[in-house]
Amino acid sequence: MTISLQGVSVSRGVAIGQVHIVQRDQLDVHEYKIRKTQLDDEILRFNDAIALSRQQLRAIRDHIPVSTSVDISAFLDTHLLMLEDVTLAEEPKRIIKERLCNAEWALKLQRDALVNVFNEMADSYLSTRRDDVDHVVNRILRVLLNQKPLLHEVPNNNIKNRIIIADDLTPSDTVLMQHYGIAAFATEYGGPTSHTAILARSLGIPAIIGLHNAHRFIKNDDMVIVDGSTGVVLVDPDRSTKSYYEKSQRDEKRYYVSLGKLKNAPTQSKDGISIMLMANIELPKDFESVRDVGAKGVGLYRTEFLYMNRETPPDEEEHYETYLNVLKALRGLPLTIRTLDLGADKQVDGAGNQTGHVRSNPALGLRAIRLCLKEPELFRPQLRAMLRASAHGPVRIMIPMLTNIQEMQQVLQMIDDLKKELDNQLIKYDTDIKIGGMIEVPAAAICADIFAKKLDFLSIGTNDLIQYTMAIDRVNDEVNYLYDPLHPAVLRLIKTTIDAGKKAGIPVSMCGEMAGEKEHTQLLLGLGLREFSVHTSALLEVKKIINNTDISELKTLTKKVLNAATGAEINLLLQQLATETA
Ligand code: PEP
Ligand code: MG
Repeated sequence: MTISLQGVSVSRGVAIGQVHIVQRDQLDVHEYKIRKTQLDDEILRFNDAIALSRQQLRAIRDHIPVSTSVDISAFLDTHLLMLEDVTLAEEPKRIIKERLCNAEWALKLQRDALVNVFNEMADSYLSTRRDDVDHVVNRILRVLLNQKPLLHEVPNNNIKNRIIIADDLTPSDTVLMQHYGIAAFATEYGGPTSHTAILARSLGIPAIIGLHNAHRFIKNDDMVIVDGSTGVVLVDPDRSTKSYYEKSQRDEKRYYVSLGKLKNAPTQSKDGISIMLMANIELPKDFESVRDVGAKGVGLYRTEFLYMNRETPPDEEEHYETYLNVLKALRGLPLTIRTLDLGADKQVDGAGNQTGHVRSNPALGLRAIRLCLKEPELFRPQLRAMLRASAHGPVRIMIPMLTNIQEMQQVLQMIDDLKKELDNQLIKYDTDIKIGGMIEVPAAAICADIFAKKLDFLSIGTNDLIQYTMAIDRVNDEVNYLYDPLHPAVLRLIKTTIDAGKKAGIPVSMCGEMAGEKEHTQLLLGLGLREFSVHTSALLEVKKIINNTDISELKTLTKKVLNAATGAEINLLLQQLATETA
């Protein structure tokens, strides 16, 4: 019998295939005492587990093709180094001897001690490294407990074309799994604008989140259909359902081929208004696709993915080289590089949620520009690299999560100081480099006019703007229902920001997920938005809508929308418009 499960759709596309279940954090570790005579055997067992873990990691590293993004290799190298480190390779043996306990327990005690040290660290970049400790410790524990490593953590083709059903996935899991060719994924938890979801869209993997109780209904090797557009997972579909979805897979392919024809067309509304359509990028594989879809530049380059899966942050040279590579791929198109936006859901690589120490309200904590200003040694190399890269192509600097004017002034001052430093060292940069800010905190949207006076451009980050306006954590599936881009408060903040930019004569773009959602394109045009930055997979669809819209006809709709009391009312107005203009 076919079972239908409903989740929240985060990345479109249909996938049909067999399930592979990923369930982490199931490691049950208990203490038991050993006799003195067993000591040597227990130490040997621990040494063997370290050796086998090392073997597993080396095998993965040796199997990944050279084209793999550097972050995956760096992530593996970091874990290999940790296996050599005395804190993990030696200290547990001291504990075994001292307590006469089993190796698993000694390793767990050492892990707890290390995690406590990380949690105490004021440096929030380093404190995120506790997740790496967990990754490595869990790998060793799985060996000690005779459990198999998770499939995507060993080199194999067994998850190729599989549909991953997981409790939760981190951004690094997602990258690794995509590398092994998974067909789709569905998770029980997470939010639609979590970075795992954004990554899924950018990697083009159909994905669903919030599929509660999936593990109760889906087993390994079950045949399932994932419909990324509706958020539905069908378990054990009958023949006719399967052929219906196979047809929709073919239709989808044809639809994307037909959209491809728009690639070289200008982005212009029916009444002749030119719209700037740019791309959001994250991973090296995205660099090339910007030109492939005919984007007019990059409106958001999320650089935090450069920091993922490694022990130390990238230095100035690495930033510089990466930016040069992107500029090279863009061949003259503008590149908007966002300064590091680490924190909240962008800091967990692995089984981090079992550390037992999660700062309350991380989304309201030391994130993005707050973190960078607190840790200038983390920030400066990136800013310097951006300035240096600007000598080689059109680079713009974008500051995330501005809340107050002082933060903006501090950053502008830092950039000025760095320019002087570069002048003294006779290093070239674009003296007219444009500096913009993201409007993603309601305080900044309300005061957008003040920011607009000092900045060269603004970009609306709706993922965070909605999260902070609605007071919901964007990765918490229990409050997902409140995530509403059409809430009148959100629309008013967007309008305030667009109007402020217009008044100050600076461009305002939108780079949050809302910009790439085709059902919102006309509304945004009506609100006065003229620059969009969207993930490449959504770009041509948005272009199609723009080119089919007469913006002058949207005035009445926009007025009605701005006077509506609820998101549902606004949604209805948009649906009516869509049928009228279809
Ligand atoms: C946003 O908040 O809308 C945004 C584009 O930034 P991020 O999703 O990376 O937080
Ligand atoms: Mg944001």
